[in-house]
Amino acid sequence: AIMSTPTTFRPVLERIAEEIERTPGSGRPADYIPALAARDPRRFGMAVAEPDGTVYGVGDWREPFSAQSITKVFTLALDLAREGDALWEHVGREPSGNPFNSLVQLEYENGIPRNPFINAGALVVTDRLHTRTGDAAGELLAFLREESGNPDLAHDAEVAASEAAHGDRNAALAHFMASYGNIDNPVPVLLDQYFRQCSVAASCADLALATGFLARHGIRADGSRLLSRSRAKQINAVMLTCGTYDAAGDFAHRVGLPGKSGVGGGIIAVVPGHCTLCVWSPGLDERGNSVAGVAALDRFTTLTGLSVF
Ligand code: GLN
Repeated sequence: AIMSTPTTFRPVLERIAEEIERTPGSGRPADYIPALAARDPRRFGMAVAEPDGTVYGVGDWREPFSAQSITKVFTLALDLAREGDALWEHVGREPSGNPFNSLVQLEYENGIPRNPFINAGALVVTDRLHTRTGDAAGELLAFLREESGNPDLAHDAEVAASEAAHGDRNAALAHFMASYGNIDNPVPVLLDQYFRQCSVAASCADLALATGFLARHGIRADGSRLLSRSRAKQINAVMLTCGTYDAAGDFAHRVGLPGKSGVGGGIIAVVPGHCTLCVWSPGLDERGNSVAGVAALDRFTTLTGLSVF
């Protein structure tokens, strides 16, 4: 069902939803925790938010799903807003060309992760945000609630507990970086924050709205400034080059927008100055990106001609 808001994107979204429905579902839901494995890979939703907060969508666009690594964009923005460029002494901005949970590059680079969107880099960002706020996961949730206008957004305790029970890889990443002095908080404290961060449940509508500050060049929903224009540009650039891990080149080639995926099957994307998008479908490719999600964004930029290129 589509909301009755008349807009130029509406026929485009309808057409994409029809095309996705006709394409046999491919990809498999993330299976490293039971809560994600149970999702039906045929679910599909897509929302577009305009800079003034108008949002509309198709399919399951109001259905909450596990935001997972999409939250890494928001913690990055919140930490950059607080500590500024000092953050970049602790995490890089180069694509990794490796899977999101990879350990291999950390040793060569002295415990400095390649970018803030692979798990190692996101752990560093959350650690630093936690030091500055005393409650990184709470700070994130408050921000998402305000930007989406949805006060019911919450962490999913079952997902967070499941992450913790299967968290050996993230624990290894955090301990390894701590051995280089690149983690401030005790590792168990950091992991608890990170797993709660990943567990946020939100819909395409919520996440498209919450991403709006990146389309508004750093301006929040209430009109206040979170980031300078230049820092908002920098986050969009890192999303383009690093937001879909070892598929970032392919994503840029097909979609041509800054984007960030999560293993819950969601992807956010930004058309700077124009709109933000969020698409959700739980079937993932082998790199952890939603198959129908990438296909839908590919069709959106092709049909509308809107991309950063
Ligand atoms: N919770 C997941 C993890 O840390 C998030 C990864 C993702 O969404 N790519 O492994």
